[in-house]
Amino acid sequence: MTLIFDNRYDALGERFYASLYPDPLPNPRAVIFNDDALETLGLKQYGLDDLLSFFSGNSVPEGAAPLAMVYAGHQFGGYSPQLGDGRGILIGQIRNKKGTLIDLHLKGAGKTPFSRMGDGRAVLRSCIREFLASEALHHLGIPSTRALAVTTSNEPVQRETIENASMLMRFSESHIRFGSFEYFAYTEQFDELRQLCDYTLENHFPQIVQNETKYDDFLCAVAEKTGSLIAQWQAFGFAHGVMNTDNMSIIGQTFDYGPYGFMEKFDPYYICNHSDDRGRYAFNRQPLIGHWNCQALAQALSSLTTSVAAKNMLQTYQDTFIKRYHALMCRKLGLMETIEGDKDLYEDLLDLMEGYGIDYTIFFRSLSQYHQNDDVGKITIIKSCADDFAPWFKRYNERLALESLDDNDRHEVMKKINPKYILRNYLAQLAIQNSENGDHSDLHRLYTVLKNPYDEQPEFESYARETPPWGQHLQISCSS
Ligand code: AMP
Ligand code: MG
Repeated sequence: MTLIFDNRYDALGERFYASLYPDPLPNPRAVIFNDDALETLGLKQYGLDDLLSFFSGNSVPEGAAPLAMVYAGHQFGGYSPQLGDGRGILIGQIRNKKGTLIDLHLKGAGKTPFSRMGDGRAVLRSCIREFLASEALHHLGIPSTRALAVTTSNEPVQRETIENASMLMRFSESHIRFGSFEYFAYTEQFDELRQLCDYTLENHFPQIVQNETKYDDFLCAVAEKTGSLIAQWQAFGFAHGVMNTDNMSIIGQTFDYGPYGFMEKFDPYYICNHSDDRGRYAFNRQPLIGHWNCQALAQALSSLTTSVAAKNMLQTYQDTFIKRYHALMCRKLGLMETIEGDKDLYEDLLDLMEGYGIDYTIFFRSLSQYHQNDDVGKITIIKSCADDFAPWFKRYNERLALESLDDNDRHEVMKKINPKYILRNYLAQLAIQNSENGDHSDLHRLYTVLKNPYDEQPEFESYARETPPWGQHLQISCSS
């Protein structure tokens, strides 16, 4: 396999990583590949054997510079001074067909100097969960790292039970985290901190790299991306679950998928991570935690920035979040302009949905087919409480009367922001169970559905249904 590498991160020097090769999976098997991404990354020409060998760590193409990145981070509010890639390896950086620099990162690639007590491995269910969620978010239009392939083996690894060692090849423009900067700041390696900032600016924020106040501007640019990302999570009902600063991407992508969850019955207090006893990362705390994490980043960069930088960053974060969230929620209601009272309209709706435990995705999709002044009882998902929703619909109809689009045009717009298909936990769980038994067809089907979340896919109607009672309270293991 020949790939043209452009290993910029490797060029930073050994204080930024530990060089090492992956520990290959014995007798690997393919689980799922992302064919579209194989194409855009120039890998499509290779046969299954070559790809399988690469994605399972059995071969590393010439020119790669495999390494484990060092970083630190605030985990559940407390500072962990030494984290780093404990089981992931940045294989190398290549350019995609558009010329963008892309990290190829292999998760589950074996022990590294940062593994601490861990075995360096990943299990099949966690690789599949990351594959599905990162691709689902991407196809919803939410920034995310991407998934290229999952491979598995019979190598046993101990979690709650014995499971099969597996690997996920993921790709992204960057694997630099908020915690990468914290590491250099807290170890007082200030030259390296500056070097990392310059690297990030050059490669990911070229529009501000020449600015005299580039480090201040960098914080604001990160705040914008982060605020915008979290606004999208809130509007689409995505809970990350582990918003530690080492899981916060510096380029504002959804990053490091663990016990995440998509909102089903609307519940603002939703905690998807069962080990998050105090609900630090509950759904409705995500915007606040984003703010907290920005503050941690500003603190880490304080040796390079002016005295107003942190304040400006936090203000930018807040402004961006509020503006983006408001725009998204108005659009979900089919409102093209926003006027006073719109915020109350969607907030009151969310209160109602919470009170009656209404499925978030199905409700908004149904609303995307609602004709003005139609009978509320026709909306199946709120049929049993239609009378209680009626006063809200009266206000909604009055509001729609001020809009210029007719019903059909409004429906078209709404169907592009209110998905029909999301990754319901139980769907992922069923696909995982079958895959663990060697049948990947369910996984492949689910992946196909999630690639077009806004389209009607009549053959996959069942994937859009409300979660059955048995699937509503599945306990997802937090081990990975
Ligand atoms: P995570 O919770 O996946 O974001 O991981 C937090 C830290 O623990 C990171 O530094 C990971 O590399 C490390 N880690 C997680 N699982 C393992 C494992 N099985 N072996 C080694 N390190 C791990
Ligand atoms: Mg992590």
